[in-house]
Amino acid sequence: MTFATLGLIEPLLRALEALGYQTPTPVQAQAIPAVLAGRDLMAAAQTGTGKTAGFAVPLLQLLTMEGPKVTANSLRALILCPTRELAEQVHASVAQYAEHLPLTTYAVYGGVSINPQMMKLRKGVDILVATPGRLIDLFRQNALKLNQLQTLVLDEADRMLDLGFSEELANIYRMLPKKRQTLLFSATFSDDIRLLAGQMLNDPLSIEVSPRNVAANTVKQWVVPVDKKRKAELFVHLMRKGKWKQVLVFAKTRNGVDALVDKLQGLGINADGIHGDKPQATRQRALDRFKASDVQILVATDVAARGLDIEDLPMVVNFDLPIVAEDYIHRIGRTGRAGNTGEAISLVCADEVNMLSAIEMLTRQTLTRKMEQDFEPEHRVPDTDASGQVVKKPKKPKKPKTSGGGGKRNLGKWVESGEVAAEPSIKPVRKVPVFNTGPRKKK
Ligand code: AMP
Repeated sequence: MTFATLGLIEPLLRALEALGYQTPTPVQAQAIPAVLAGRDLMAAAQTGTGKTAGFAVPLLQLLTMEGPKVTANSLRALILCPTRELAEQVHASVAQYAEHLPLTTYAVYGGVSINPQMMKLRKGVDILVATPGRLIDLFRQNALKLNQLQTLVLDEADRMLDLGFSEELANIYRMLPKKRQTLLFSATFSDDIRLLAGQMLNDPLSIEVSPRNVAANTVKQWVVPVDKKRKAELFVHLMRKGKWKQVLVFAKTRNGVDALVDKLQGLGINADGIHGDKPQATRQRALDRFKASDVQILVATDVAARGLDIEDLPMVVNFDLPIVAEDYIHRIGRTGRAGNTGEAISLVCADEVNMLSAIEMLTRQTLTRKMEQDFEPEHRVPDTDASGQVVKKPKKPKKPKTSGGGGKRNLGKWVESGEVAAEPSIKPVRKVPVFNTGPRKKK
């Protein structure tokens, strides 16, 4: 199969050829004809499957072939993304695919001044990529109208809910025209996502290109048990022993990122960090330098690293296990892309046994444990398996939960209060249904 046989127009074929895309990926082969036919989509596709072109390319074709010219402050298509980085990345891809088309594209997100964005929207844009919060801000300031909207794309919808955007999504939903095409992409399909899809999509075609909730099988994964206080030392040891060249490292909190970066830099290792406290420009610079191999070790929180497309990354290290088990799949999705093999190593201490168990249950596998000589933990990590059984609970009593708000889904038994406080941009996820189907309240 080729892109031409999928019915794409010449300017798009030319752009794809210039990017070196020869054959459609499985998600593209399924999504492109469906989107061109005007169908709604519900696609289970991880980052790295080529999902961005899967929705963006046919969307560009529809916008070129059909519909009126965009009017002032209006949009014809909206792509919602969970983070600024993903919004930038998706926009960069859309702009590349649209290179030979007479369409305008733009990306808006928080953390940067809103005024230039308002100016830019004055003439209207064909495709806007946006994070939910900034989109609502712009809407409230009358900088954009959604009455011309033909297509809505929810990219990484699971992540938007994990980050607590359900209320924003419900608000946006109310602003949308009823007649539209809606495409929903998600790496994982929780019940909340199915609920969201049930309300937003109309007779959607389901596409599943990798088994539900199963991590990419081109990634070799294992766990090294270690005491919490020796994790940094173990990381440096493994890095030197394995002669690691370029590694993306995940830490749970902003403080954790900073502490590890300081430690590595103190040892003369070329490391940088990205997290939500850093200005957007600094984050982008660190990312660009990492992509250009000017930085060897990039340490990131889940929020900052979400959806990053870094080609051929050989290795991901979970310095801490993620707070939400689904994030494990997103994290290791940074490696083993496009058929390449990758390695994902998790440094796990006894406190993290419940997280490990949840990850094994979600990915339906028991992760191999490799003990590292001289780093055998004093606090043993109890045995776990894919059934969710933890054979022996850690002796240390868990800290009680602090008051003051709903806990994040799957979070209660895992998170120490200080850890969440150190990553305040992770908002709690509501357990309530995403949308209220009852009568709307009058304001
Ligand atoms: P995505 O899953 O959309 O983040 O895409 C992952 C990576 O695959 C990106 O670097 C794309 O440029 C690349 N890619 C997408 N589709 C193709 C294709 N058909 N052939 C080769 N590379 C592709």
